Amino acid sequence: MKAKIITLPGDGIGPEVTGEAVRVLQTIAQQFGHEFTFTERLMGGCSIDRYGVALTDETLADCKGSDAVLLGAVGGPKWDDPMAKVRPEQGILALRKGLRVFANLRPVKPHPALFDASPLKPERLAGVDVLVLRELTGGLYFGLKSREQTASGVRAVDTLEYYDYEIQRVVELAFRLAAGRRGKVTSVDKANILESSRLWRQTAAAIGAAHPEVALEHMLVDTASMRLIASPASFDVLVTENMFGDILTDEASVLAGSMGMLPSASLGSGGPGVYEPIHGSAPDIAGKGIANPVGAILSAALLLRHSLRLEREAVAIEAAVDAAIAGGCRTADLGGKLTTRQMADEIISRL
Ligand code: NAD
Repeated sequence: MKAKIITLPGDGIGPEVTGEAVRVLQTIAQQFGHEFTFTERLMGGCSIDRYGVALTDETLADCKGSDAVLLGAVGGPKWDDPMAKVRPEQGILALRKGLRVFANLRPVKPHPALFDASPLKPERLAGVDVLVLRELTGGLYFGLKSREQTASGVRAVDTLEYYDYEIQRVVELAFRLAAGRRGKVTSVDKANILESSRLWRQTAAAIGAAHPEVALEHMLVDTASMRLIASPASFDVLVTENMFGDILTDEASVLAGSMGMLPSASLGSGGPGVYEPIHGSAPDIAGKGIANPVGAILSAALLLRHSLRLEREAVAIEAAVDAAIAGGCRTADLGGKLTTRQMADEIISRL
């Protein structure tokens, strides 16, 4: 098949790890007879330096016209002033908005050879394979905000609102994904307190009733945060609203031991998805060629699976990463000595 992929390597270690993910995709294209074209564009701090904005209209248009977007990471000390008018992460928000992606997926499946790197006991990690789905466009982060001086003090307000259709589309995606996995959805809310959560639970229950082949459980967010640590293997697909998801996805990532290992995908209905490692631009190690490229490489596997529907090819990458880790290949974050390039070479040689 032919596919147009836009790469947005960004800042810091972003270009280092994205370059390796592209090499892996090129190898896959060669081996499976596909034609992938890669077009690189600026986003984040590097785009601010060049164009004054974190994402230009032209770059967004290129992304809209592509089959998928592969992102590195953005940000760094140079652009860190929280009061600055233009900030690197505005690029990511504008990209998500422009591409109308509404669900962020983070699969977490710790490798047995890396159980020692996690703060959890190895017996808790056995069999963990959880996919966390975070709603991306609504909820507390996007509701009306205000701040005012009142007679009794300064009052700040954030509002948590959801439309039923916003809940429906992300929960339906959770059910579709669960059907291809172990067939269980955990819908996380705070329905004992929040009206928006009662709508979330009611909507999820209606979708659950239409999909009897997938088991649905509802769980309060406080309970979910405990269970993710106490019995992480009990989850298959977890779906939740924006802020709960922001917190729970970071909690889940600790299970894997290193930030450098984990991929993510942001999906909408049909258009190009955005694929990126969960880590940031890691300014402390940028330019040294020692970043772990696995998160970026596994993001490339998600790109093949979700945007190009190339499941066999995605599995080939995941198997090669597993084999490299099982074979003792380690970058510095995992206690090893391999450079970014060497780690990618080890993975490519196992494809
Ligand atoms: P970070 O993820 O960049 O780094 C946290 C720690 O993990 C650092 O010690 C870093 O060296 C290490 N690390 C991260 N990725 C690694 C990898 N692939 N291999 C080896 N070690 C790795 O988070 P931070 O330090 O809080 O943020 C740095 C910058 O990145 C900030 O400007 C922040 O705004 C930005 N950021 C961007 C994104 C994104 O682009 N999506 C996400 C998070 C943070």
